[in-house]
Amino acid sequence: MQLQFVGCGDAFGSGGRYNTCFHITGARANVLIDCGASSLPALKRLRIARDDIDLILITHFHGDHFAGLPFLLLDAQFARRNRPLVIAGPEGIELRLTQVMEALFEHSSKTKPRFDLSVVALKPEQTRRFGAVDVTPYPVVHGESGGPFLAYRVEAEGRVIAYSADTEWTQALIPLARDADLFIAEAYTYDRVVKNHLSLKTLEGHLPEIKPKRLVLTHMSDDMLGRPDTLAYTAASDGMIVKL
Ligand SMILES: [Zn+2]
Ligand SMILES: [Zn+2]
Repeated sequence: MQLQFVGCGDAFGSGGRYNTCFHITGARANVLIDCGASSLPALKRLRIARDDIDLILITHFHGDHFAGLPFLLLDAQFARRNRPLVIAGPEGIELRLTQVMEALFEHSSKTKPRFDLSVVALKPEQTRRFGAVDVTPYPVVHGESGGPFLAYRVEAEGRVIAYSADTEWTQALIPLARDADLFIAEAYTYDRVVKNHLSLKTLEGHLPEIKPKRLVLTHMSDDMLGRPDTLAYTAASDGMIVKL
């Protein structure tokens, strides 16, 4: 199995990075986690076969995690995709997907896809199986509106990948990522505590409880991107591959 960072940027394109999008592939797994506004060009740049993706997990409806879906779906339609696709995310995803499709490409939500498209709402702490992939969402804390917000623990082929999504510190991150083979954690700031986001110092204080086998930082602001040599942890970059 491997995970490739298709995009690991924040909402503001800090460092010229693409919006959040991770690609997991294995013998029986082909999953995207998040599909931010810039994800289709980022996928094409890395020559990732979009047709092979079976499942797209969405953590929340902010544009840097979700707004790439209309582009991806229209591209699939024009490229004559015929393989089924499942998009899963927080409660309300069906309505939010229709709204973003209509906002970006009028009438696009009413065009029936050529392929079998299922949109599935996930409930926190209820594991769902998609093919050979088990997905457990955890509720995270990312603001009063625009939710629900989910982090994901993904198990496939005997490996566990956990992604914090965007969140301030919450105890839910402990079961989310405990003993995970790979924990991808937001580190928006270094030590400055801001609402709705996680600082590296806050995360660091909890790592002994989480004990991830590997930690990679993502969704970094300019504050974090200005300190690459002083960080004691691996920081994601667009295109980076982690073998699992
Ligand atoms: Zn974000
Ligand atoms: Zn967000």
